[in-house]
Amino acid sequence: MGRKRILITGAAGFLGSHLCDRFIKEDFHVMGMDNLITGDIRNIEHLFPLENFNFYNHDVSTFVHVPGELDYILHFASPASPIDYLKIPIQTLKVGSLGTHNLLGLARSKKARILVASTSEVYGDPTVSPQSEDYWGNVNPVGPRGVYDEAKRFQEAITMAYHTFHKLETRIVRIFNTYGPRMRLNDGRVLPAFIGQALRGEDLTIFGDGKQTRSFCYVDDQVEGIFRLLMSDYPYPVNIGNPDEITINQFAEEIIKLTGTKQKVVHQDLPIDDPKQRRPDITKAKELLGWAPKVSREEGLKITYQYFKSLPQREINHKDF
Ligand code: NAD
Ligand code: UDP
Repeated sequence: MGRKRILITGAAGFLGSHLCDRFIKEDFHVMGMDNLITGDIRNIEHLFPLENFNFYNHDVSTFVHVPGELDYILHFASPASPIDYLKIPIQTLKVGSLGTHNLLGLARSKKARILVASTSEVYGDPTVSPQSEDYWGNVNPVGPRGVYDEAKRFQEAITMAYHTFHKLETRIVRIFNTYGPRMRLNDGRVLPAFIGQALRGEDLTIFGDGKQTRSFCYVDDQVEGIFRLLMSDYPYPVNIGNPDEITINQFAEEIIKLTGTKQKVVHQDLPIDDPKQRRPDITKAKELLGWAPKVSREEGLKITYQYFKSLPQREINHKDF
């Protein structure tokens, strides 16, 4: 039997590139697709010499085609950091809606199984904690984050409709804040923001009073959860994230300790609709997939800091988004 064939959209991005690595390791034929709007080709350049890797530079919000058979699709193309999706709101809405529709159509025509990357943002600013999959969320559709949150909610709805109406094999992962090497230092997310500031000798910018919480998952754990979900037979949404919850104030202290920076923290305005708390209930992932995160924040942060420190100085100094 030949290699299984998988299409990964968003391949040049942070999660997409780690997924490409994982499926190459599993001896799949991997087709990576990306239009490089927020990604970086350097994340996957090491795969170019491989005979079981192809790259397609393509915007998935327009008609998508790949030659040959296809067993699986992972739809990960989408801006993911608030700074990015506020800068390109229409593209964000399009890739979550039209892009997802195109990939569902491709999956149907190729008889492939498709997994779409959803997000904890479907819970919005949650009124319950931790968030389990049966919580319907608290999203402001017309607020600045609505372009991302509602695109992802639509993505889930159309994916379920293809499952029930066309009997397509679908999977939905609700990803909670994930970090690790290959994040963009200037993508505005809190971890690269703090580490970048520490490396440049700037004060760390805490938005609001810093009492809001997040729960950070190391990328290898996230990829393992996604892999297991794809291989499972469960079509409903599953949370994948690390339930170890922390306030942004505590997180800043951890980064100060990790980097040894002598800088202090400064407070800036909290962005509109910034969720106050976020922590995944991972009971479902544990029961269905036998999955739980293994990498502690201390361990994961060390690896990630080493990665950022090893970047060329001009990249560390480049602050424009
Ligand atoms: P990223 O910005 O690093 O990667 C996204 C990739 O998608 C980029 O390479 C970008 O160029 C590509 N892309 C965007 N629009 C495209 C289009 N129209 N056509 C083709 N390619 C396009 O972000 P990430 O953190 O790797 O996120 C990947 C996916 O995971 C996204 O769907 C995101 O919503 C989801 N997610 C990520 C997190 C997280 O913590 N990293 C949390 C929740 C959900
Ligand atoms: N944040 C911060 N300082 C920064 C960047 C972000 O205090 O320089 C806060 C942000 O307001 C949010 C949390 O850190 O409460 C996580 O933000 P991020 O953009 O990483 O992801 P989100 O979970 O909000 O999508």
